[in-house]
Amino acid sequence: MRIKQFEEEIIGYRQELHKYPELEYQEFRTQRFIADTLTAHGIKCNTEIYKTAVVADIVGANGSAVDNGTVDTKGKKCNGQMVALRADMDALAMTESVDANPRSLNAGVMHSCGHDVHMASLLGAAIWLSKNKDKFTGTVRIVFQPAEEDGMEGGAKGLIEAGVMKGVSAIFGLHVWTGMAHGTVGICEGKAMASSDDFRLTITGKGGHIAKPTEGNNTIYPAAEFASNLNWVQSQRTKADDEVVIGLAYLRAGTTANNVIPQVAELGGSIRCFNESTRVKIKEEMTLLAKTIAEKYGVKCDYSHTHGYGPTINDLQAAEFYRKSCAKVEGVNTVTIPSSVMGAEDIGAYFKHAKGAMAWIGATKDEKSSYNIHHPSFFCHDETVLLCAEIYLQVALDFLEKGEWE
Ligand SMILES: [Zn+2]
Ligand SMILES: [Zn+2]
Repeated sequence: MRIKQFEEEIIGYRQELHKYPELEYQEFRTQRFIADTLTAHGIKCNTEIYKTAVVADIVGANGSAVDNGTVDTKGKKCNGQMVALRADMDALAMTESVDANPRSLNAGVMHSCGHDVHMASLLGAAIWLSKNKDKFTGTVRIVFQPAEEDGMEGGAKGLIEAGVMKGVSAIFGLHVWTGMAHGTVGICEGKAMASSDDFRLTITGKGGHIAKPTEGNNTIYPAAEFASNLNWVQSQRTKADDEVVIGLAYLRAGTTANNVIPQVAELGGSIRCFNESTRVKIKEEMTLLAKTIAEKYGVKCDYSHTHGYGPTINDLQAAEFYRKSCAKVEGVNTVTIPSSVMGAEDIGAYFKHAKGAMAWIGATKDEKSSYNIHHPSFFCHDETVLLCAEIYLQVALDFLEKGEWE
């Protein structure tokens, strides 16, 4: 493993980042740490591009960067391709289990999704590249992206608008994956992760005494009808081969008083699918359902439906390329094509601008590393951090050697 020579540094970065987790768009200390680390290794970076993001271009000795206008490459001659590597930066608002080591020192915030692992490993890959510029032609753009956990307005969108994909021919990302054995890498064929949209409905009727229903307008009945019709939207209004989840997350109405008509009912949840036209169709159907129910029951229905992350669809060619790269990495013994999941990520946004794919890196070795992401006991071993670094490095070098997509 080439990255082994920086093992101590990489493990140290991971420990530091893990101790100081920060929530979406508040990754100030994280940003400073990344920028200082890169700068200390002679890598010029851009911390102005978008909120708390850090972007740096590492240009091979044999080739100069594409003129992308965002980093320190303006006006340079185009020679060689540019490959981007992305790591996410944010943590979650939750308390880490007490016996964790390293443990979060920021109360109520925890790197329970492994983004500390992604950042430390990408720093490691960047440092190797900066010290081995004679070994590649072209540019590796490293992208530290804030706010992946946001779900609605993640950092990918802002970075793309700020021009981070300008000149990029390929982009690769990864995510540690507990439940999958360490040494196994999974890269989906096409559909990898679902889109994520939110819906909320507030129903307003008329309160009063429960014994005088005709003088009031009870909101529980229209709320129940809306809730029970969600299955109908899913099964009868989307195609049978579309994978769709319409999940109701809350339904609130009334108090514990048995004799009061509830005047307001609120319900909401999340919609997951893989198809953009299905997303639009579901929005139309649910908006119509709310309108129909409002008319039928004579209540006011305020319905809102917000599109969050789009689906993450790995480019087929990029996915195959990435699988071949991973298979070459020492420590990877199995490369699989896993089934997609209904969870969401904003990495898919980049894949609309260049061919790209994301890999799931198996992280489970023992009971300690068996907890799911977002669990207070989530933990990743150092070996997984190093493996992630080597995978980032391998795919970038392989792509630059290949030069371009056929
Ligand atoms: Zn994550
Ligand atoms: Zn997460």
